[in-house]
Amino acid sequence: MPLPRVRVVTLNAALGPLDYRVPDGLKVSPGAVVIAPLGPRQLVGVAWEAERLKTEDVGDNRLRPLVGLVDVPPVPEPLRRLAEWTADYYLSPLAAVLRMIIPSSSALAGPKQLVEYRPTGTAPARMTPQRDQALNRIAGRQGTVRELAAHAEVSEAVMRGLVHAGAVEAVEVDADLPFARPDPDFAPPQLSAEQASAATSLKAAIGPAAASKFDPILLDGITGSGKTEVYFEAIAEAIRVGRQALVLLPEIALTEPFLTRFTARFGCEPVAWHSDLRASQRRRAWRAIASGEAKVVVGARSSLFLPYPDLGLIVVDEAHEPSFKQEEGVQYHARDVAVMRGHFEEVPVILASATPAIETRHMVDIGRYRELRLTERHGQAELPAIRALDLTRDPPPRGRWLAPSLVDELGTNLEAGEQSLLFLNRRGFAPLTLCRTCGHRFQCPNCTAWMVEHRLMHRLACHHCGHVMPPPRLCPECGDEDSLVACGPGVERIADEVAALFPEARTAVVTSDTIWSPARAAEFVRAMDAGEIDIVVGTQLVTKGYHFPNLTLVGVVDADLGLQGGDLRAAERSFQQIQQVAGRAGRGDKPGRVLVQTHDPEAPVIAALISGDAPGFYAAETEARRDAAMPPFGRLAAIIVSAEDKAEAEAVARRIGQGAPRVEGMAVFGPAPAPLAMLRGRHRQRLLIHAARKLDVQDVIRDWLGALEWSAKVRVAVDVDPYSF
Ligand code: ADP
Ligand code: ZN
Repeated sequence: MPLPRVRVVTLNAALGPLDYRVPDGLKVSPGAVVIAPLGPRQLVGVAWEAERLKTEDVGDNRLRPLVGLVDVPPVPEPLRRLAEWTADYYLSPLAAVLRMIIPSSSALAGPKQLVEYRPTGTAPARMTPQRDQALNRIAGRQGTVRELAAHAEVSEAVMRGLVHAGAVEAVEVDADLPFARPDPDFAPPQLSAEQASAATSLKAAIGPAAASKFDPILLDGITGSGKTEVYFEAIAEAIRVGRQALVLLPEIALTEPFLTRFTARFGCEPVAWHSDLRASQRRRAWRAIASGEAKVVVGARSSLFLPYPDLGLIVVDEAHEPSFKQEEGVQYHARDVAVMRGHFEEVPVILASATPAIETRHMVDIGRYRELRLTERHGQAELPAIRALDLTRDPPPRGRWLAPSLVDELGTNLEAGEQSLLFLNRRGFAPLTLCRTCGHRFQCPNCTAWMVEHRLMHRLACHHCGHVMPPPRLCPECGDEDSLVACGPGVERIADEVAALFPEARTAVVTSDTIWSPARAAEFVRAMDAGEIDIVVGTQLVTKGYHFPNLTLVGVVDADLGLQGGDLRAAERSFQQIQQVAGRAGRGDKPGRVLVQTHDPEAPVIAALISGDAPGFYAAETEARRDAAMPPFGRLAAIIVSAEDKAEAEAVARRIGQGAPRVEGMAVFGPAPAPLAMLRGRHRQRLLIHAARKLDVQDVIRDWLGALEWSAKVRVAVDVDPYSF
């Protein structure tokens, strides 16, 4: 009789599936989380259906026994199928996907009291610059010494010193506290007729496991039309039938306003999942999700892979957002994986957006997704009028960036006591620092990128690798003093310009540098609601989700910025971004207005925004994609080859290029330097693959790369459906 054996996928991405013997008395079914021996080590893994995974044949006599089971619920079957699909589609090791399902082994340990630390509010007897920085950064935070030190960018020794000095204290936390249960009937809204009909249609799709089916839905409603209120009704229904609901949000900074609204509707907060969680919070949330106790989860894209035992509904809010695309590790698109999870779970998936992606709209056009529309803003609010401001006719004065008529409008708004928003998608003060004498430009030593001046933080920073340097006083090339100039505007520079024009105005800069945690986002919302801010200068971070009734003027500082470069999605992206930022204006009972600064008011994107002809814009873009057989009518994949040594990267990329198979319906371009030719000290080469819709391009790439070898110093990553290129 053959020994009872089990196939295990460990969380180690370097290993393939391994077979083990099941010791007497242990019952191991697929999905079970197990501990498996490997050499002297013990690894966490998941038992898998043996017939679904190939592995090296190992005789019974060579099998080692499993160490045991981990006391957590098994990885459910639909999620195992999703993991396989994700690994296949994105050409990633299954283990790398499992690491997103079980993201921290600390979540697996038994119940535990944990010790965390928080500032006491008293200053230490001896203050140092490091201690001062640490205390400033950790105000209002709690976490382990390591977490706090990392957050404050000081050493753990500094943090422990603060504990000794009494400025930071220990607190016990219970990592197994239960979560409150959202009440579906806590405070239902009074829906408009249009909202009610959409909500009814959504609710009808929700049911117990036996009655529900895969049902992808585009909830397409203009900004401020109440999409959130409407999908809240679907969530309420999922809670009523006893199932779990997941809401994916694009940006962590958005979660705070969302939590407030959720609490108003359901009486308590949902369970949040994002990268800013402390280890103890992560552990508590993971266990509540896996046990089914967490009824509603709101999270970043990574929450998509958590082991919900009974998911009844998935919502992807702001579904057009590019940040749903993961660019490292498993390079997946959370919007697309969400739809696949809905498919395997057999549940509805709601994609909510005022500006859906061309791909999503196309799925509606061909009848694969259904569409629910909301065409009116809630209450008295109207969509704001968008006007172009031709910079060739109404140019800003030298060294300034705001045209006179936009300045006039800002002044009018200030006098009326209404709030304004200036949008420029560029962090920092200036994107480039230049020496006037010798022309030297400050470049990142690790990346093909300029060092961006951040005046608020007194440094230059690379936005790709995080490299920073103090602001230079003289040119490192020619040694000239006072010859350095900041070129071009970032949001901080616009804020300076506003301060010079309106010294009495209260201005806030809103970027990921100033809003880096949900608590900061909450503070920003509070200050806006309290009327403590007159003018916001912000990046794309302010284009999303916020609702400020007294915000009536939006100025787009540079509408041409997003159209530079030859990216496939440049026009679509600009359209979405400006439409979204415009959507922040006039959400209350006062009408809003939007001024868009451009050098080319006739450009199709700008013209469509002004005329409000979104359908026309979508139709033209879709036709252009169809003509060029670009997504969604054709497929793209990128192979990125990187190495610290430039020649090595080039050599491997060349070999991959030479090994390209001749396949009908597929063309390979390159290798050529990737758009970021150097990133974090690695030289990058790229091959771009363009294939017909029907071609199984993953299969081709698997065989193609599988036949080649390269040194461990060279990294080869495949980006299937790359977002930008
Ligand atoms: P969207 O997500 O479509 O931009 P929201 O759901 O944020 O729109 O709604 C815009 C604003 O209008 C929010 O403050 C929301 O609370 C409010 N609102 C929308 N519908 C209703 C309703 N039926 N009753 C009360 N307030 C509503
Ligand atoms: Zn860099």
